[in-house]
Amino acid sequence: MQSTLLEELRRTVEGDVLSDEKTLIDFSHDASIFEVKPEVVVMPKDKEDVEKLVSFVADKKKNHPTLSLTARSAGTDMSGGPLGDSIIVEFSKYFSHKPEVKDDMAETEPGVFYRDFERETLKKGLLFPSYPASKSICAMGGIVNNNSGGEKSLKYGKTQNYVRKVKAVLSDGKTYEIKPLDKKELKEKLDQNNFEGGIYRKIFKLVTENRELIQENKPTVLKNSAGYNLWDIWNEQTGIFDLTKLWVGAQGTLGVMLSAEIGLVPVNKYREMIVIFLPDLSDLGKIINHILPFGPESFESYDDNTLKLALRYFPEFAKQLGVFGMIQAGMAFLPAFLMMFTGRLPKLVMQVDFTGNDQKELKKKVAELLESLKPLKLKTQVAVQDQEEKYWLVRRESFNLLRNKIRDKHTAPFVDDFVIDPQKIQTVLPQITDVLAKHPEFIFTVAGHVGEGNFHIIPIVDFGDKRVKAAIPKISEQIYEIVIKNGGSTTGEHNDGLIRTTYLRQMYGKKMVDLFREVKEIFDPHYIFNPRKKVGGSLEFSMNHLRHNW
Ligand SMILES: Cc1cc2nc3c(=O)[nH]c(=O)nc-3n(C[C@H](O)[C@H](O)[C@H](O)COP(=O)(O)OP(=O)(O)OC[C@H]3O[C@@H](n4cnc5c(N)ncnc54)[C@H](O)[C@@H]3O)c2cc1C
Repeated sequence: MQSTLLEELRRTVEGDVLSDEKTLIDFSHDASIFEVKPEVVVMPKDKEDVEKLVSFVADKKKNHPTLSLTARSAGTDMSGGPLGDSIIVEFSKYFSHKPEVKDDMAETEPGVFYRDFERETLKKGLLFPSYPASKSICAMGGIVNNNSGGEKSLKYGKTQNYVRKVKAVLSDGKTYEIKPLDKKELKEKLDQNNFEGGIYRKIFKLVTENRELIQENKPTVLKNSAGYNLWDIWNEQTGIFDLTKLWVGAQGTLGVMLSAEIGLVPVNKYREMIVIFLPDLSDLGKIINHILPFGPESFESYDDNTLKLALRYFPEFAKQLGVFGMIQAGMAFLPAFLMMFTGRLPKLVMQVDFTGNDQKELKKKVAELLESLKPLKLKTQVAVQDQEEKYWLVRRESFNLLRNKIRDKHTAPFVDDFVIDPQKIQTVLPQITDVLAKHPEFIFTVAGHVGEGNFHIIPIVDFGDKRVKAAIPKISEQIYEIVIKNGGSTTGEHNDGLIRTTYLRQMYGKKMVDLFREVKEIFDPHYIFNPRKKVGGSLEFSMNHLRHNW
């Protein structure tokens, strides 16, 4: 950034304005395969600072068209969402005040780490049930703006179900409240003769005039983060117009979030878990269909490669359970160790979790499920209280294990989050893994939310291998073709970012992509916020920014 502009920026905001090399390198990464070096990192102190920053960029953009703002909370995104080559707006330093929990909701700032948020909600026996597997490292800003999901989303749905209100700075540099409106409130907004009124009028027109196109293109899956959520904004039956549904998951492309009100649910007292070991995937569809009607809270899975890895790095990994937990985990994992030595590891481990407040009922349900599974002759185990955490640890930590433990190779999340109808897993999953199997440069693990048909395939690659750069777009296109042909979505929860924005056209077609562009330009006509995400993605830009420094 030009030094005069930088000086002016420093005079404009009170917060930290950092442009030293170390900071810029630190902020050029998230958990994705990309590396994009920003020009400057700003840590705004308060709301006024954010407003001044947005107005600054809006004003200077005429002479400096590449200026933009990309919001960042904890930077654990897997899609390149918080990466940008201009100004990064970092929220974890000053927007991290203790959340206020009252009744059945909490008000939070974006920079609050989920682990701190949860500590406060649990004190009141409440939980935000859409926390992601990255719960110990991510923050609320990313959870809301990515529309994150997690192990409990099968029962509770994703983040969009819990965001009641968002406070955000929009492209005119002013702060607005975004919340569900009834017909009267909507009319008041539509009648406003200002920037905000214009947004409501144009979005209302867009979703009503294109109702059929939007409905025809609704992915028939249990969760979807691809594109802008145009399906849930306007509910004609209830008369509720709710722009939070559009905002949540928009990856900071419509503005910058200052705070959010998040709904919470009571924590259930009891939990029962069944672990099922599948020798192969031949009966997978049948088993999923069999289990889902029992109404589990979570239905998760991980493959033999993930399990091998967990066993290989067992001591470091189990350290997180403490000494006592480690001994218990060691005992619980003994059969898996034996299976590994005899070469008979299960192909897939499935965890089926039930919770409730009536322990007897819960045990009855688990017994019924086990009984009904008997004809399928599967190896099952009922995890006793202290074993449950161990299985969860493997599932939650599977990606982190790969990120941190494999020498010379790195995780390459690029087809990491597709969703298909769970009924189709048995036929579609092997087609997908076959595509990868043709590339020996990719070793990969599969884990995911099997109950929702949402899979995280994470290859581990050597980015120095020239074949990798060429193979990433080729494999993505082939896999997404299979997913889309089967009515699926390219992303269930990790979102589009730099990795999937360019596939939105393949998924939805030109007319829907044109609507996404219209949405972007209604909120952000001068492209101040988070360029190349959701709209305007470029495969060339993405592939030229593959990560080299680890
Ligand atoms: C080990 C691991 C496991 C993961 N497991 C899951 C999982 O189970 N489910 C899941 O959904 N994801 C998962 N993720 C991805 C990621 O952790 C989540 O999406 C998380 O919610 C991101 O939070 P963050 O605070 O790190 O966001 P960031 O990386 O900081 O940002 C994410 C996106 O939100 C935008 N954003 C951030 N703050 C703001 C703001 N104030 N205003 C506007 N936009 C903003 C950014 O621009 C970016 O586009 C995982 C990641 C890792 C590394």
